[in-house]
Amino acid sequence: MKLTIKDIAAVLGKSSSSNREISTLLTDSRSLCTPEATLFFALKTSVNDGHRYIADLYRRGVRAFVVERVPEVLSGVDDADFLIVPNPLVALQTLAAYVRSLVNIPVVGITGSRGKTIVKELVYTALLKAGKRVVRSPRSWNSQIGVPLSVWHIERDTEIAIFEAGIDHPGQMQVLHDIIRPTVGVMTFINGEHDAGFVDRATKVDEKRQLMTGCDKVIEGDDNRLVAGDILEALGESRDLLNGIDEVSTRLDVHDGVNDSLTIFDEFTADVPSLLSALDFMSRRKTASRRNTVILGDLLHRDGDDVRAVYSQAAAMLKMAGIDRLIGVGKEISSCADVFDPLTASEFMESTDEFLARYDVSRFDRELILIKGKRGVGFDAIMRRLESPRHQSILEVNLDAVVDNFNSFRALLKPQTGMVAMVKASGYGTGALELAKTLQGQGAAYLAVAVIEEGVALRRAGITMPIMVLNPVSTNYQALFSYNLEPAVFSIRELEMLINEAARFGLKNYPVHIKFDTGMHRVGFIDNEIDGLVALLKSTDSVKVASAFSHLATADCLDEDAYTESQFEAFDRLTASLSAGIAYPFKRHILNTAGIMRYPERQYDMVRLGIGLYGVSPLPPEATDITLRTVAKLSSTIISLKRWPAETTIGYSRRGVLTRESVIATVPIGYADGVDRHFGRGNAKFVVNGHLCPTVGNICMDLCMIDVTDANAEIGDLVEIFGPEAPIEALAETLGTIPYEILTSVSPRIHRIYFRE
Ligand SMILES: *Cc1c(COP(=O)(O)O)cnc(C)c1O
Repeated sequence: MKLTIKDIAAVLGKSSSSNREISTLLTDSRSLCTPEATLFFALKTSVNDGHRYIADLYRRGVRAFVVERVPEVLSGVDDADFLIVPNPLVALQTLAAYVRSLVNIPVVGITGSRGKTIVKELVYTALLKAGKRVVRSPRSWNSQIGVPLSVWHIERDTEIAIFEAGIDHPGQMQVLHDIIRPTVGVMTFINGEHDAGFVDRATKVDEKRQLMTGCDKVIEGDDNRLVAGDILEALGESRDLLNGIDEVSTRLDVHDGVNDSLTIFDEFTADVPSLLSALDFMSRRKTASRRNTVILGDLLHRDGDDVRAVYSQAAAMLKMAGIDRLIGVGKEISSCADVFDPLTASEFMESTDEFLARYDVSRFDRELILIKGKRGVGFDAIMRRLESPRHQSILEVNLDAVVDNFNSFRALLKPQTGMVAMVKASGYGTGALELAKTLQGQGAAYLAVAVIEEGVALRRAGITMPIMVLNPVSTNYQALFSYNLEPAVFSIRELEMLINEAARFGLKNYPVHIKFDTGMHRVGFIDNEIDGLVALLKSTDSVKVASAFSHLATADCLDEDAYTESQFEAFDRLTASLSAGIAYPFKRHILNTAGIMRYPERQYDMVRLGIGLYGVSPLPPEATDITLRTVAKLSSTIISLKRWPAETTIGYSRRGVLTRESVIATVPIGYADGVDRHFGRGNAKFVVNGHLCPTVGNICMDLCMIDVTDANAEIGDLVEIFGPEAPIEALAETLGTIPYEILTSVSPRIHRIYFRE
């Protein structure tokens, strides 16, 4: 939509004489692209406040803001419009409802816990085929913020609109309903995900049904294609339009690529709006040392659209995003080569086959490469060609699952309680950096690592949030201070050295975290050391206590509540003495994952979330109702397949003896990759095509063999070692250990892949 500030002010019950035209609404300052036509809403969330970014946005050219108050530095400026409202989020929603009221068209509203985006994209693509002017939510923008931003995309000539609505707390659907006002209401699959904010599932389903109020037609179902067909029919179109349309992948994959490049692979609907969101995702991964390259396929558009106009729009986006190099791959994009900016080094090819046959990938050098094209025409082969040449075993990390797990724990805590995200041991084996980036955006109060080197690596990669170092026994104070890492201190000796060094570096009030031993009996100050501790802290202003903490030994032991209680008592006593001694406030924290689940009343000022973030519950399923999402999946592929008669022996020392004719697959992952040798000889089962396949014979250093007789396997099939289908808990059980050890044992040579849905 396009509206003037004058009109927008009127909608919000304000007055303004400004004729500035607004075509873009912005809530996240990182996504800025057309400053002069942008209206920024300074939203406050539990973790951030948009008012912080106003001055910066002004510097970057934005001149229109919806705010609670004008920041002091800009109070005098007269070339910007400030609309002052009690609540900018409500203003955003009010504006969207107004935009909705400007059109009298069929509007589809989709809710449910799974499949919303897939159904929406199927219907959208089908309608484009029918030549309709359709607007739909970009990707899965379905929240209290995403829905109004989506609705804003309605234009006066829009013929049909499709929006997703997602909720995580009671009361939210009414708000979304009043903005979307669907004429066709759709409920896809309902299950228990995101239930944290609701008393029970029925309440949540009831709430979701509020979206259907006033609809001419209501559609429910859990088969994406059937539901999409029903929607088309409700809109007076034929379900046959769906023929030949594939379901989109909602994933954005980030991989290490050839020659120090980083690739982003996106097979979402390849149209202009989704190019914009992919470029936005890309911009957050830009670094000065990498060139920015886009490999772009033919774009989906309405039958009957002016093709050159479509690619001109794409060209403008690439230019705005600062893309250095474009490789167009497709007949249509090649035919529009001349609309792209001549400053961009561009090349065009008619097909992915031509690219694969002709393009020398060694020409890529230190680039950030976005690969965006329609599904099913070979862009996945381009992506694989650009992957750095490593072996076939990968650890996939679902960053959305990390965020969901973070929020599930968040929901158990008071809003003001800080969350320390434990990313020690390389993020429990999953890789600390991507985790840190994700959690930084999610509002964690601190990251915690075990050793200084881990903290330094995060800082060097651009992580700016506070970092706590738990076991900083080290002489490298220079690194500690210059990278602004906050040490935990657990002995008088360490504290004395730290104070001396801080003084030598001329530091004042350097933050430290005091560790008390309340029952783990590992490290930490105990009762008879507290006087010495207080005296030492009072004698200096070089360091200052930022927090005091302790660690529970038995939070996950259901029969040790009395011991845990004694730890809480000791913690209260020790922190009270410290507090009385140093006479300034500091934060307190003791709960780990199991602690948060079992003793939320002991959350104090912060909690330290570890294994739960990675989707593993430290408690048995019957002891908790929290549902966590699996984060990590370790998988490999079958590289050899043979049928052997009974009595054949497999592997070293002939330890695998076949008792029947069997099909044996060889998988390129072994104990040097973290697949423990004790998993051999049938002790563990990996999943192939949904079948559990036992190991056969001894695990080798780089390979292992599994029995796939019943799995209908072929060369190239995926073997899941652990992940959504092969629970890591079962593997841990096999070794008599805990999932923590299995996760952190995945060797660094295994390629890590991160994705968001
Ligand atoms: C690792 C660690 C945690 C996190 O424990 P989880 O059981 O993974 O939640 C918390 N506190 C300290 C001091 C730790 O070392």
